[in-house]
Amino acid sequence: MGRGRALEAATGTIRQRMMARLATGWASAKELSALLHIGEKEVYGHLRHIEKSVARFGGVLVVKPAICRDCGFVFKKRDRLTKPGSCPICQGTFVEEPLFALEQRG
Ligand SMILES: [Zn+2]
Repeated sequence: MGRGRALEAATGTIRQRMMARLATGWASAKELSALLHIGEKEVYGHLRHIEKSVARFGGVLVVKPAICRDCGFVFKKRDRLTKPGSCPICQGTFVEEPLFALEQRG
């Protein structure tokens, strides 16, 4: 088994564990990063892959958008996977993280 293959297998395992966790209900990128011992940036990369791959099986990656805890603004339009830095309405930085889950559709 070459290095590439080994890396691919390890990545597959991380993605499978992430999918298994998401299938049980809402999780934040922070929680997934702690669970799988990878950086939050990597979590977002895997989430994008998961979103595409589950679509083939009728699955959907559902996203609860980030919310400003100060004024309640919902970050719908922004890149919806990553956590925004501050609120465009009140400039508050107390932003609730977006949450992710897997659902079966169809
Ligand atoms: Zn706000």
